[in-house]
Amino acid sequence: GPEYVRAIAPYIAGRPISEVAREYGLDESKIVKLASNENPLGMPPSARAAMLKELDDLGRYPDSNGFVLKGVLARKFDLPDTWFTLGNGSNDILEICAHALVEPGQGVVYAQYSFAVYALAAQEVGARAVEVPAQAYGHDLDGMLQAITPDTRLVFLANPNNPTGTFVPAAALEAFIAKVPSHVVVVLDEAYNEYLPVEDQYDAIAWVRKYPNLVVSRTLSKAYGLAGLRIGYAVAQPAMTDLLNRIRQPFNVNTMAQAAAVAAIGDTDFLQRSAALNAAGKAQLYAGFERLGLEYVPSYGNFVLVRVGEDEGAGARVNVALLKQGVIVRPVGNYGLPQWIRVSIGLPEENAACLAALEQALTGQS
Ligand code: PMP
Repeated sequence: GPEYVRAIAPYIAGRPISEVAREYGLDESKIVKLASNENPLGMPPSARAAMLKELDDLGRYPDSNGFVLKGVLARKFDLPDTWFTLGNGSNDILEICAHALVEPGQGVVYAQYSFAVYALAAQEVGARAVEVPAQAYGHDLDGMLQAITPDTRLVFLANPNNPTGTFVPAAALEAFIAKVPSHVVVVLDEAYNEYLPVEDQYDAIAWVRKYPNLVVSRTLSKAYGLAGLRIGYAVAQPAMTDLLNRIRQPFNVNTMAQAAAVAAIGDTDFLQRSAALNAAGKAQLYAGFERLGLEYVPSYGNFVLVRVGEDEGAGARVNVALLKQGVIVRPVGNYGLPQWIRVSIGLPEENAACLAALEQALTGQS
């Protein structure tokens, strides 16, 4: 294979519950998984019901163009359905953007401590991956602007960011987008958008109408509770979605996923419950971390980055100590944050179990 493919470091995903149970000799039903920023409420019941109706139709291919789902999105955002591209999760959207817009050797810019798939998407098309040093664990927007050169084609920016949970306020973000030259496409990854507190919410779709070089990426994996079904979408002007749709695999979002997404997008009640549960769980984790004297990065997502020691082995060590107690979190050494772990916000009892296990891991008491 090409050298640039062999150079790729594999993506590290959260470990499955069954695997951890087997390795540590634990009861599977007692394991708490706070490792992949999943919705602790699980899938909305409305989506389950919608999928059951599709069961007898699975001998047929999915609707390649996602007519019904795009119709729902079109109504939600008050845009024609030509402004959407569907993805097999939003990871697919990120990759489609790289494949559709970047030639080998051209530049892809993103921030240090930002989502791992940006580097992967750049590397898999043989692009030059340009990582801009973070500022206070978040995006240095001026630094990112300065990193843009004539051969840059793409900027990836997550708002809120994973794994740090940082957030760029709307005014600074739009000022940045306005300054990005027109030969560069900004992919604004809003995977955690639905968790934003009311006072921080902003309308990136209004910017999509204004800026032909902006792609907004969204997912059904987080607040909508459908991570296992793999549904994401891009919002951009039709000239852009036309390009993205040429690269998109024709049946990349399956029949069950489309039906579930339609139901979940209509289920505003579930979305509100998810956001409220997340806000309460975040306060619970903050209080627990403060009690343990641990530094954390204030988060705008459904997870919190917390520093569990001063030495380079701290994150990995605490991760294993938590695994032994049946709590799965995400060590982030691969992000260059070896002193930290990322804890997804769970149900109140899951957060409590995680804090108790953390106390045990750090002090030998709980
Ligand atoms: N973007 C960000 C910032 C994420 O954290 C994630 C999930 N880890 C994704 C995109 C991809 O999620 P999915 O493919 O499930 O939509």
